[in-house]
Amino acid sequence: MNKIVTQIADVITSLGTVIFVLLMTVIAMIFVGHGLYYQVFIKVMSPWQSEIASWVLSFGVETTVLVITCNVKYFGSRQLPVFFALCSGFIVLFFINAFDLSQPGLDIAVRWFMGLLVSGVNYVYSELFVKKFNDMQFTTNLLSEIEMLKQQNSEYNRERSSTEAELTKAKQDVERLVDYVAELEAFKKKEMDKVTCKFCKTVFPTVFHLNSHMRNCDLNPRKGEKLSVFEAVA
Ligand SMILES: [Zn+2]
Repeated sequence: MNKIVTQIADVITSLGTVIFVLLMTVIAMIFVGHGLYYQVFIKVMSPWQSEIASWVLSFGVETTVLVITCNVKYFGSRQLPVFFALCSGFIVLFFINAFDLSQPGLDIAVRWFMGLLVSGVNYVYSELFVKKFNDMQFTTNLLSEIEMLKQQNSEYNRERSSTEAELTKAKQDVERLVDYVAELEAFKKKEMDKVTCKFCKTVFPTVFHLNSHMRNCDLNPRKGEKLSVFEAVA
């Protein structure tokens, strides 16, 4: 139920409805205008000429009003829509003889009320159309902005995942490097042990230097004795 009400509200407040109602007013005004212009033209033209001229003029004037109302945002001032709203009112007033003061007061009041109503409706629609159009433009801009942000976000996400992948790879490389360094340290220690005197802990450039030293090392409890083959390599 709420959905239907919302849909109806959407239709009523849409730009399409504003244009539709505006068109209805314009169509009605074409007939009113034709009636008025015919009364004037018939005095100076033949009936067929008056007929054609008043239809064409009425159509032309109302189309102009419609175009100006729909493009009022291009005009700096608000004077033009006001002028055309007043003209529409006067067309009605003249057509329905609102200035004939010999009529009863109530008739004159009704006629003036109609004239003012048409003027008001014309003016309100020029305002409404511009505001609705701006709203639509704003919504369109907003939607394209959202689309752009979505794109930027997906690009950012892509960049982030590629950076994360690079980071993981770098981390693995570092771990591998640390392992290599540890292996290298262990190897270096092993090699150093091979040329270090086990008594005084002095390091020698070669195993031969070490062997000749160990025999005479001051800390060797068996100093001067010849080392066995196994002790020499140990
Ligand atoms: Zn030594």
